[in-house]
Amino acid sequence: MQSYSTARLRAEELLRRFVRAEKARRGVKTLSAESFYPVKPAAVAKFLGWHVEATAGVAGYEGSGFRVTGKVQQSNDSKIIRIDSSTPETERNFTIAHEIAHVTLSTQLSDCQYRFRSNRRILSNEQKRKEAEADAFAAALLMPEKAVRARFKKQFGADAVFHRSPRLAKFGVVSPLGRENDRREVAKQLATVARDEQKSFAAFFGVSAAAMTIRLLELELVY
Ligand SMILES: [Zn+2]
Repeated sequence: MQSYSTARLRAEELLRRFVRAEKARRGVKTLSAESFYPVKPAAVAKFLGWHVEATAGVAGYEGSGFRVTGKVQQSNDSKIIRIDSSTPETERNFTIAHEIAHVTLSTQLSDCQYRFRSNRRILSNEQKRKEAEADAFAAALLMPEKAVRARFKKQFGADAVFHRSPRLAKFGVVSPLGRENDRREVAKQLATVARDEQKSFAAFFGVSAAAMTIRLLELELVY
């Protein structure tokens, strides 16, 4: 969808600017993926002039009973991204990246009832679109397509894998063969297996298993 690809492009553009600043800060000409990832969205927010504050219960519960896990607050002298400190770090990372999307795309909602791609039934279609757009931005910021493809090839020795490939066992996937709907299961295992002292794929990019599973499926790295 058009607006989602715009969101992705904006995320990639922001990441390029951040990488440039990071190289200057570290005084290096090149940055290997190993030394750069995971992207620290709090540092990206700071780069944009925003403070990140993590507190237990960002804004309590929104009317519908869903917990608000992230919001942006701007006044004349402060720009703050507030996030819920009670969620795991990987989810907090995604929430910060999601809030950066609202800031960058100027699609700020009053509060984000943010739970990874769920609990959105209560939103209007327009709000849902904005939330999905912010998720697309966040995914592209934390798991950039080029970096994910390069890492996949390095870690699994292939551009992509078929979800019923006999080679999966070699990657540490416990074969779910025989189950009909197993593409997602294979993606989830590839996202989380950690072998030979290597970080898991999800850990390398600092995201949750759920976020990385979706990314592997949408980039068709598991087909
Ligand atoms: Zn949002």
